[in-house]
Amino acid sequence: MNIILLGPPGAGKGTQAKRLTEKYHIPQVSTGDMLREALKEGSPLGLEAKKYMDQGGLVPDEVVIGLVKERIQKPDAGNGYMLDGFPRTSGQAKALDKILEQLGQKIDHVVSIEVPSSELLGRLTGRRTCRACGAGFHLMYDPPKKEAICDKCGGELYQRSDDNESTVKSRLETYEAQTKPLIEYYQNQGKLRRINGVGSMNEILARIQAVLE
Ligand code: AMP
Repeated sequence: MNIILLGPPGAGKGTQAKRLTEKYHIPQVSTGDMLREALKEGSPLGLEAKKYMDQGGLVPDEVVIGLVKERIQKPDAGNGYMLDGFPRTSGQAKALDKILEQLGQKIDHVVSIEVPSSELLGRLTGRRTCRACGAGFHLMYDPPKKEAICDKCGGELYQRSDDNESTVKSRLETYEAQTKPLIEYYQNQGKLRRINGVGSMNEILARIQAVLE
C-alpha cells in the first residue's frame, strides 16, 4: 500500500506516520527527516537544504524528488511506503506521478489531515523532541513529567530549530501558497481522503485506519 499523508505543518503527519507504519509494516518516507539527517551528517546536500529550512521555505524540487526516487526503490519499500511531507509542490506531485509510472506503481490513498489554521502555530511552537530516543512531547497537550526531560528514556528535550514563531509563520505561508493546491490535485485523481485532524492521537489514528481499510 502506497500512501501520501498531506496536511499543513503541525497537522500531526509525522506522529501518525510513525504509528501507521508500525501497524502496516511499511517504511515512513519523511523528506523533512531525510534532510535533517543529511544536515546532521554535515553533507553538502544537508548544508544546502538548511538555507531553505531555516527560512521556512522549500528545498528545491529536484533535490527532494531525487531523495524520494532513490528511497522508494530500497528493498524495505517493496510492500509499500508512507510519504510524509512529500510532495509539497505541484512540480513534486507531477514528478512523483512520472516516477511511479516508470516503476509500475501507484498511490493508493492520499490522506489529508485537516486542522484549522488557528491551531497550528501553538501546536508547532510547543513541540519538543527527545535528543536520545526521538520521542515527541508538547508543552501544553502532552507535557513531560519533568521539564525538558524525556519521560521514556531520561534524554534531553529540544525544540526543532524551525519551530520558533517567525519560522513557523513562514512555513504556514509556504504551505498555503505551494502545498494546499495539492488537495485539489489529488481530489481530481479521486484519491483524496479527508480526515478531521482535531482530537486525541488515538482518535485521529482510528479515523485514518477507517479510510485505509
Ligand atoms: P518537515 O519535517 O516535513 O516539517 O520539513 C521541514 C522542512 O524541510 C520544511 O520546512 C522544508 O524546508 C524542508 N522540506 C521537507 N520536505 C520537503 C519537500 N517535500 N519539498 C521541499 N522542502 C521540504
